[in-house]
Amino acid sequence: MPDISDQVLSGVDASFSINEIELIDTFTRRCSHLRPLPSHQYPNETLIYYGYIGCAPMYPSVAISLRTLAAYRQSHRTCPQFSIKSQCKTLCYLHDIPYRPYLKMQFSAAYDIFLEILHRINQHLRQALKRDTVNWRMLNTCPACFYKLDDEPALDFEWLVSIDGNNSLKRWDSSIYGTTARSDSRTARSDYWIHADAVDKFENEVKSRQVNLRNDDDWEDEPTDPDHPGVFTCINQWRNTGPDSRKKMFAVFQESGIFIASCRHRFVLLVCDMIRSGELAKYPIAIIDKLLTVYGKNGGCAYDIGCAFSKTLANTIEEHFAFWDADKYAALST
Ligand SMILES: [Zn+2]
Repeated sequence: MPDISDQVLSGVDASFSINEIELIDTFTRRCSHLRPLPSHQYPNETLIYYGYIGCAPMYPSVAISLRTLAAYRQSHRTCPQFSIKSQCKTLCYLHDIPYRPYLKMQFSAAYDIFLEILHRINQHLRQALKRDTVNWRMLNTCPACFYKLDDEPALDFEWLVSIDGNNSLKRWDSSIYGTTARSDSRTARSDYWIHADAVDKFENEVKSRQVNLRNDDDWEDEPTDPDHPGVFTCINQWRNTGPDSRKKMFAVFQESGIFIASCRHRFVLLVCDMIRSGELAKYPIAIIDKLLTVYGKNGGCAYDIGCAFSKTLANTIEEHFAFWDADKYAALST
């Protein structure tokens, strides 16, 4: 990357130049005059050449350094609550200027382009490395789990995963309190996510289950089954094993959390959003549907309410998992 001070004096002929553009870095803020290379057609090509991204597509007056955007990306990954507004206020303190709301818009525009550039570079890399085939990520995420050796002895289970939902990634519904919901047409471009439509395929397939409707807060020990002394029957002791109709979520939340599957080495394999609901059975069923499709039927799955879920799965297994060995589903509760 060339030094800014050198380019100002360069004698390169060009059809345009960038005059008095404000260049924002983490610790510096200055106006400069940039001369493009002959191959540059647009101002942002020149800005990228010098390590900046403009805050407008054609005639930017402000540009933010790539390293500032890269630093924010990592800060945001480690602390999702660290917003663009907070980042802009941080820069304002460092540059000793007052914060103004339009600064957030400028930073956001440059950051969107920065992420788009990274995404397209990754796409090119995946193509060049031939990692863009169907399900490549899932099949290669964990070499310990999914790489097979020549003449490897057959295992009882060829793959083992854990699944569960959380409730610490709630997202507030923007239409609450009479505000107009802000439309967001973006969709995840990662194959980690199972789309809501794929999940909802299973929402009407979960058959209602007769449950003990005693006091939900009664956490006394369950009496032992007299016919099977010593057998631990935990289904009724777990609040999460209640019927789906009782898993209500506060209506103020658009999303109540995520449901994930990970291998035993903690590599995340699949994720789906839990939308306007608690931990319904459709989420693990959709996850298992995808796991069976990619990894085959000879697998095991750990789930904290697997004892109840195995029954739910058994009810839907014939229709959706016709290729599944009927004896295997019991292993899903291990
Ligand atoms: Zn693994």
